[in-house]
Amino acid sequence: MNSRIKKFFSYYKPYTGLFLADMACAFLVAAIMLVLPLCARYVTQNVLEQSTPDTLSQIYGMGAVMLALVAVHTLCNLFVDYRGHMMGAMMESDMRNDLFDHYQKLSFSFYDDQRTGQLMSRITNDLLSLSELYHHGPEDLAIGIVTLVGVFIISLTINVELTALVFLFVPIMTIYAFYFNKKMNRAIRTSRERIGDINAQVEDTLSGIRVVKSFTNEAIEKRKFAYENSRFVESRRDDYKSSSYFSGGMIAFTQLITVAVIIFGGTSIINASLDLADLLTYLLYVGILTEPVQRLVNFARLYQEGITGFGRFMDILEIQPDIQDSAGAIELGSVQGNVQFKDVTFKYKKDQDYVLKNICLDIKAGEYVALVGSSGVGKTTLCSLIPRFYEVGDGEILLDDHNIKNIRLRSLRRNIGVVHQDVYLFAGTIADNIRYGKLDASLEEVIESAKKANAHDFIMQLSDGYDTDIGQRGVKLSGGQKQRLSIARVFLKDPAIIIFDEATSALDNESEKAVQDSLEKLTNNRTTLVIAHRLSTVINAQRIVVLTGNGIDEQGTHGELMALGGTYANLYNMQLRL
Ligand code: ADP
Ligand code: MG
Repeated sequence: MNSRIKKFFSYYKPYTGLFLADMACAFLVAAIMLVLPLCARYVTQNVLEQSTPDTLSQIYGMGAVMLALVAVHTLCNLFVDYRGHMMGAMMESDMRNDLFDHYQKLSFSFYDDQRTGQLMSRITNDLLSLSELYHHGPEDLAIGIVTLVGVFIISLTINVELTALVFLFVPIMTIYAFYFNKKMNRAIRTSRERIGDINAQVEDTLSGIRVVKSFTNEAIEKRKFAYENSRFVESRRDDYKSSSYFSGGMIAFTQLITVAVIIFGGTSIINASLDLADLLTYLLYVGILTEPVQRLVNFARLYQEGITGFGRFMDILEIQPDIQDSAGAIELGSVQGNVQFKDVTFKYKKDQDYVLKNICLDIKAGEYVALVGSSGVGKTTLCSLIPRFYEVGDGEILLDDHNIKNIRLRSLRRNIGVVHQDVYLFAGTIADNIRYGKLDASLEEVIESAKKANAHDFIMQLSDGYDTDIGQRGVKLSGGQKQRLSIARVFLKDPAIIIFDEATSALDNESEKAVQDSLEKLTNNRTTLVIAHRLSTVINAQRIVVLTGNGIDEQGTHGELMALGGTYANLYNMQLRL
């Protein structure tokens, strides 16, 4: 908890100067608000008494002072409103940066359990309330306390009975305000969660919009959305109800106090225990009395809201990425590409069954190994252990005789290229997407790798060639075209080890031919691990490894395994018959 408090205040640090100036202005605003009624009192007293001959010039003099005060007040308010808000916004953006950085550090297993919409909500909505707290919090607290105490002291010097009467209302008013404020708070928190749900729902539907349409299930999606949306309205209802009670009540209290002051003050004037100027001053103070109470209550709300948001923020920030560089992690120079699984055991969740058990596998640098086995036996899992997307349970994986846990993640992953079945392309141009494999690649390099990946020809047929903008996720390209772009990316990256995870399974025969062709070019002189669904594509592999539920069942060349007549031969014959 202590570290959270420290973290909370640490965001002020870059803006210390701005913050102090902001606070100084806030104090000035409060002070001037307190002084103005005193000036008015001075003028009224002069008018009523007309004691000296130069009353008029005194009134003008005081008028000038008041104008000056008003000018300073306005400037300070401007500063607080503009620069203060900017400070809050900048702090908010610092936090957003931190959270985004952290999102990028968290591992696959974190994202397996999260809904993207909720994560988006945290980085957008949740932080909004924090900027408000960072900026308005100290200011509300300062102005609130200074004005409240100031009004109390000044009015005491004017008239004790009236002050007692007025300040009788203050505790009642405060309790009232707190009560409804708390209700408002609860409603706000719920509505924030509901907004997260709405985001998650929209994200889900829009990501799957093609599935929705092909099943013509728009009505179901609409119903799911309408449900989340109506839950949001519910939470707003509670919020608005209590906030209208809140502000309505505050206005009523002000009016009540005013009436009480007029009645009691009027009587006092008749009894000659109060003069007209004092009564007027009093009424002015009553007018500003609700302001500090509202500010303090507002502070309580900002605090509550902001702390909730900060809690949600820290909940994520405090999650240690379960895969990160160990203390003495080494940087790999040139990598040969020997990969060795030593008795590797793995499961995704503590309470789940083992996906891989006692896997021993030795892949020599430059070797071309195919991994086959029925769906769900753990082929993808096995491959994702090599770049440390998930952490090995027992046993270890060695890369060129170094345990991968002792290699810097960047260094490890830079040397491994993965081509998946589904390709993710980012919004941007074709060239941008290929260049993702090597950010400083020249256009020549990009074109060269596109040629190797058999992608150059179709790219040149597009309207803008390499500058063609592909929609998000590359929907404007066919599956085979996207796959070839992703291979061009890996050509640019030029890793020592390559993993193909069913890269051609979803393609038609013609695209498969083109992709297969470019794959073969890519595998030259590199350690290659191919997961293939269609066994005809791995016949030429130097070694075929057959994975079953009980681990590695058999390995050897196509000819050897066929002669063995075991699992592989069965699988192969079955596919031939299809
Ligand atoms: P294959 O690639 O051989 O078809 P996978 O490696 O994808 O098989 O999956 C192996 C097993 O692990 C399956 O039972 C699957 O349900 C499970 N699995 C895969 N990915 C995850 C994950 N992210 N979290 C939990 N279980 C998973
Ligand atoms: Mg798989």
